[in-house]
Amino acid sequence: MRAPGGLKGVTAIKLRVLFDIDGTLLLTDGAGRAALGRALEVIYGTTGPLAGFNFHGKTDPQIVVELLTRAGVQEAEIRSRLSSVWPVYLEALERELEDRRLRGRIVLLPGVRELLARLERRPEVRLGLLTGNIEPAARLKLTAAGVSARFDVGGFGSDSEVRIEIARIAVDRCRSASGPGAAPAVVVVGDTPEDVACALAVGATAVAVATGRHGVAELEAAGADAVFEDFSDTGRVVGFVLGAGGVAGLEGGAESGRRR
Ligand SMILES: [Mg+2]
Repeated sequence: MRAPGGLKGVTAIKLRVLFDIDGTLLLTDGAGRAALGRALEVIYGTTGPLAGFNFHGKTDPQIVVELLTRAGVQEAEIRSRLSSVWPVYLEALERELEDRRLRGRIVLLPGVRELLARLERRPEVRLGLLTGNIEPAARLKLTAAGVSARFDVGGFGSDSEVRIEIARIAVDRCRSASGPGAAPAVVVVGDTPEDVACALAVGATAVAVATGRHGVAELEAAGADAVFEDFSDTGRVVGFVLGAGGVAGLEGGAESGRRR
């Protein structure tokens, strides 16, 4: 796209929208769990209590440490082999995702495709990721679900074991990627109380969606600024997100609507 008039055509980035992946954008029918089980078996000879383990809101390294600690593996041993887990995990994840994709088991959640497209169209908005997935796993899951949106800044489980630390890293990257001038507003979108806590810890707006394991009331109690059952009423979601970034109303119409 040409920017007529040189710099005048460059739109400042006013808003960064950081998305969680699992339960927020898509569901992978247990591909991550199966792949991690495979990797833990290969590297540590045990998966720990994998079957009933709650992955939601946790980072990939945190999940490994918690599972193996419960299996009685010493922390020093867990950490000394942690970096060996990821190549095995990624190889297994690619296979598990492909298997499920072929069987139609990878679900892109309601309204997600339209939500991403409508936000991405706005020149003053950039999409990003804030997820407990290590970065290559995040990319594999998005590809498997057919998400083509461009997420240009992010924080990942490969940046830190601690989700709030990932949020701080992601927000720092948002600021430095946006260049000089006013720092962009940040909206964090997720499906767990942990996502909400991250948003609040970094001074971002928290948008929560009840398409994971947590209901609307629980997400509201966690302090989310807006909670949606799902993203099927896309205009309302876009309106809220743009409003949080102070860029609503430029198109008028449905997107100027606020929640309640
Ligand atoms: Mg999630």
